[in-house]
Amino acid sequence: MKKTLHPNVSFKAYEQHQSQLFPSSLDEWIPENHLVRLVSSVIDKMELDSVLNSYPGGGAPSYHPKMMLKVLIYAYTQKIYSSRQIAKALIEQIPFRWISGGNCPDFRTINRYRSTRLKGTIEDVFASVVELLFSEGIIDLEDYFLDGTKIEANANKYSFVWGKATAKFKARLQRDVKALFKEIDRVNESDDERYGDKDLPGMGGEGPIDSAKLQETVDRLNERLKRQPSDKGLKKAVKKLKEDYLPRQQKYEQHEDILGERNSYSKTDNDATFMRMKDDHMLNGQLKPGYNVQIGTSKQFILGYSIHQKPSDSTVLIPHLEWLKRRFGRLPEAVTADAGYGSEENYAWLDNQDVTAYVKYNNFHWEQKKKQAQKPFRVENLPYDEDTDSYRCPAGQHLFYLKTEEQISANGYVSERRLYEAEDCQGCDLREQCHKSKANRRIQVGVKLQEYRKKARELLLSPEGLDHRSRRPIEPEAVFGQIKANRQFRRFLLRSLDKVTIEFGLVAIAHNLMKLGQKIRGNMDIGDSLRSERLLGMPVLANLGRLGAFINNPR
Ligand code: SF4
Repeated sequence: MKKTLHPNVSFKAYEQHQSQLFPSSLDEWIPENHLVRLVSSVIDKMELDSVLNSYPGGGAPSYHPKMMLKVLIYAYTQKIYSSRQIAKALIEQIPFRWISGGNCPDFRTINRYRSTRLKGTIEDVFASVVELLFSEGIIDLEDYFLDGTKIEANANKYSFVWGKATAKFKARLQRDVKALFKEIDRVNESDDERYGDKDLPGMGGEGPIDSAKLQETVDRLNERLKRQPSDKGLKKAVKKLKEDYLPRQQKYEQHEDILGERNSYSKTDNDATFMRMKDDHMLNGQLKPGYNVQIGTSKQFILGYSIHQKPSDSTVLIPHLEWLKRRFGRLPEAVTADAGYGSEENYAWLDNQDVTAYVKYNNFHWEQKKKQAQKPFRVENLPYDEDTDSYRCPAGQHLFYLKTEEQISANGYVSERRLYEAEDCQGCDLREQCHKSKANRRIQVGVKLQEYRKKARELLLSPEGLDHRSRRPIEPEAVFGQIKANRQFRRFLLRSLDKVTIEFGLVAIAHNLMKLGQKIRGNMDIGDSLRSERLLGMPVLANLGRLGAFINNPR
């Protein structure tokens, strides 16, 4: 039986197609302390000369760069990274419509702006945001927490080119080419008589044969072939050189050019290097093309970022901090970093720059264990005798100084290692426990490194050191967690070092503005809030609670 509507039931008016007498402004639809207003206010306060100067002029009017930048940064705060999704949001979402002033650039325009207009200028924009945070006293350059993570490139994981394989195949090709040259020489007896056992002029000579030399030789042999058209052996050799060896040589040279000092690169994104990723969802330790992203944080704001092509953290500390110094005119007072950065070169550089280094070294935790301190065979536990410049082993023998070896880092830093050798290990009862070498025991001592480690140990074990060490996991590591896990930025969308630098710049700016929004929402004291009210021109105090709600659920 059909149920009749109760007489007391009533509904609010629903007139979907009703026109408004006075059209409402989009501004009324955006709450006062919405994140989109914060993004808009901060970008409005910036000088964007470097972006404006990138426009050549002429042609049809472009979308305003300030609007495009605001749209991109707001999109990144909303986990929208794809240009197609941004274009869709510009049509469908009120905050996007508001911040774009009703403009709806298509995805190609958004992509072009992101990858070309922001090239070389995104760092200026990022630095302006950080300067703003400095000037408002929200952050400072006192403590700098440095860490790195690997982010996957937009490249196929099977698109690898390995440096070692290239070198091996190239060497094999060189052998084959030289063998073929010899064969050609042998066939041509008259040339043999003329040049003896030397190569023909233009046949590569003694040194390595590059593609230019190979091409020259092919041309020379072609000339000879014109004079001796019936020489089948020569014809076959020229064909082999031209169609097989020369293209392979050119390919290997191109690989070497792209590789530079790296061990690998991806054919899909030539700037990406194969690296081991921590978040390996297949858990098979497979190397993937990616970039080494370094950030420095303070109070969970990103103060500096840099993108590197080498996976090792120890080689990137100096270039990263040099970037920071160039940008802000000074270095932090203290740098805190994990054991991956604890090299002699980094300690020496930080020491020269008067930066306090709360930087661990690789066996810092290990050596704190009592058990390790009691192991008598460890180099660190062998007593040193300054008078004889020797160490004494548990069997009572001297390990005398032998020689000094130099080690050169990837950045060109030269460190010295002093070698010491035991007098005679033959017949020693302790040998099994002491070392595995068939010869006498040798130890390697980096005198400077030991001094730096001693200084680092004292700093790390001091009350200030303990405080810095305890803050490190809640500084850059937490920021990476927010970016990669919460905001799902785990893979670059653009290709090449320049473009991923732009992408991460947008991620870093978006992160800082979201963090600022959170600060305004609930963590600031009254004085801080008043500063932000002045900074943003927003009635912060009146709406502290509401901003938080809208940040978490902006739609
Ligand atoms: S093996 Fe050599 S270095 Fe080791 S305890 Fe014996 S004598 Fe000393």
